[in-house]
Amino acid sequence: MIGPRISKSAMRDAGKKNRAEYLIDGFRVSFQHQAEWRCACREFTAAGTCRHTREASGMREAQALIRRRLATRSSGN
Ligand SMILES: [Zn+2]
Repeated sequence: MIGPRISKSAMRDAGKKNRAEYLIDGFRVSFQHQAEWRCACREFTAAGTCRHTREASGMREAQALIRRRLATRSSGN
């Protein structure tokens, strides 16, 4: 499986909980207000969605899952 090229150092939380930025294949994807994705590519401009935002969304889901799992483990027995 070939994953997208994701630079971890480029992935940063700008100090606010509601905003995050992901770098997907060289495109900066930002997440705002808990629901809104933005990307600068042509696909997003044309369709309001693109593979970068979908990829970033999947990453965010995975991170949330891991966080939940860790929280369950540490709070449980
Ligand atoms: Zn895009």
